[in-house]
Amino acid sequence: MIQNDVPSPSFDTALLVEDEKALAQTLKIALARLDIRNVLHATTLESARKILAENTIDLILLDRNLPDGDGLSLCRELRAAGFRGTVLCLTAKGEIDDRVSGLDAGADDYLPKPFHWEELAARIRALARRKSEVPKTNALWKCEAEKLRILGPKGWVQLTPLEFKLATHLMHANGGIVGREELLKEVWGFRFLPKTRTTDYFLGRLRKLFENNPDSPKHFITVRGAGYRFFSGEDDVSGGLESDPRD
Ligand code: CA
Repeated sequence: MIQNDVPSPSFDTALLVEDEKALAQTLKIALARLDIRNVLHATTLESARKILAENTIDLILLDRNLPDGDGLSLCRELRAAGFRGTVLCLTAKGEIDDRVSGLDAGADDYLPKPFHWEELAARIRALARRKSEVPKTNALWKCEAEKLRILGPKGWVQLTPLEFKLATHLMHANGGIVGREELLKEVWGFRFLPKTRTTDYFLGRLRKLFENNPDSPKHFITVRGAGYRFFSGEDDVSGGLESDPRD
């Protein structure tokens, strides 16, 4: 019997990429029993890409042998594009080399077929726990320059070199206001300052990546007319920061 009495961390929307009809059917039922609210299903890489483009997916169950290619190529693609959801590979290829290449491609875990439902459920629960455990306040805002990633409230965030430079530049100011001109010079390397919305655009990107509610940011704050500032905690932001100090 599966016990669902104790609320446990789960995923909102899962995408099952599996071309074997009977297995897909069983998996859909299994995922529903794990309290995953929406389960979408693709039988090819092409249809998976389409679903991923149109939905926010936080768990992918990914078969490797698909009619139009290897599931791992999709996993690599997604990670390169900054996909931060959880990927669990399901495959008949249980050999150690395949397992390693799966993890190298950015999969979070690897489950060889055939597997028992209980094992799948245990793996998914463990992945959900791992995901929900990441944002410990004392570990927040850890920066890994060589991997271009920063640990924010939503977990590890993979950044482009420019995004990383911008985020860390703001973070190093320790809550101080950093002006647009300084960012354009130090981060973008401009010698002459163009009139541009670039900094606003990139701050918006950082908010989307790091903020629980990008429309009401707690960390990457715009100080109208002055620049931007970064706060690490949830409570540091007092009201009125969005307003122009000269108003
Ligand atoms: Ca298959």
